[in-house]
Amino acid sequence: MSDQAFDRNALATRLGTIVGAEHVIRDEPLSEHTTFEVGGPAALFVMPGNADELSTVLEACREAAAPHFVLGCGSDLLVADKGYPGVIVSLTERLTHMEAHDNVLVCEAGVSLKNAAAKACELGLGGLEFACGIPGSVGGACFMNAGAYDGCIADVLQAVDVLLADGSLATIGVDDLALGYRKSRIADEGMVVISAAFGLTPTDRPQIQAKMDDLTRRREEKQPLELPSAGSTFKRPEGYFAGKLISDAGLKGWRSGGAAVSEKHAGFVVNVGGASAADVHAVIEHVQDEVERQFGVRLQPEVRFLG
Ligand SMILES: Cc1cc2nc3c(=O)[nH]c(=O)nc-3n(C[C@H](O)[C@H](O)[C@H](O)COP(=O)(O)OP(=O)(O)OC[C@H]3O[C@@H](n4cnc5c(N)ncnc54)[C@H](O)[C@@H]3O)c2cc1C
Repeated sequence: MSDQAFDRNALATRLGTIVGAEHVIRDEPLSEHTTFEVGGPAALFVMPGNADELSTVLEACREAAAPHFVLGCGSDLLVADKGYPGVIVSLTERLTHMEAHDNVLVCEAGVSLKNAAAKACELGLGGLEFACGIPGSVGGACFMNAGAYDGCIADVLQAVDVLLADGSLATIGVDDLALGYRKSRIADEGMVVISAAFGLTPTDRPQIQAKMDDLTRRREEKQPLELPSAGSTFKRPEGYFAGKLISDAGLKGWRSGGAAVSEKHAGFVVNVGGASAADVHAVIEHVQDEVERQFGVRLQPEVRFLG
């Protein structure tokens, strides 16, 4: 890539000494690491395997003045077609350890919510059922206080181990994280979640499984899970539902290139085949403009833009 502001070869070598050369990739297509299946290559893609490696990788990026971005499951991201001219620090390949003690489930940041919920169920611990169908990672979920149906991360999180923006380690209790609707201090202050401890409640396994099955069924009925997307594209505007506004504006099925407003759930922009990031942007902007023109409400994207 031509617009890199750092010495890619030197940094690739340095990162290889930290995580092993096999865990550093050049020009990795980010369309393979996002649920939208959209996005060009990352100049470097690195997969740390533990907290020390993660911390040293981030330090090396800072020292090299290389832009860097911590990636979870890529389920809330729209990556530009030209890709990301920096270092993607991907946690879901190797930072995936879980352990439980005294009704507390501790998950490394790269654990998927699906696996965390399944593990809690296997252990007879209730509280994470709401998360079973959210296709994100523990780190990404803490970052934005992910939630669904009757639960959210703030309800079950006890504490997170994080790296602060200056690289120092800290354990922060849930009450000090300022978790709100899709927001947190983690996001505001550029912290990186290493692991999260969830305080759960002993519950009969069949009861947990039945709740997860019910939530999965409700999700499958309402959401276009058969097509790539980043979930709800827009935040819920105060006093309205984004999906209803979009549907009432007559925008279901509105399409630009390979991206379209879902016919099944108007709150989702979906990749109907070969969408570019430019296509998705065009749909988002059209929806924003048209909903504002008809109802005077400017929808704000929930999905985050990278590159
Ligand atoms: C079909 C579908 C359904 C969805 N349903 C829901 C839902 O019901 N409720 C809901 O809340 N969301 C939902 N989402 C959105 C998404 O799954 C969540 O927001 C999820 O929490 C994002 O996690 P992620 O690991 O994919 O984050 P990514 O998309 O990888 O990253 C999102 C942000 O989190 C940051 N981040 C990731 N890991 C860390 C870390 N370890 N430390 C610090 N920052 C980090 C990234 O830097 C980025 O800024 C849905 C998405 C899809 C595709």
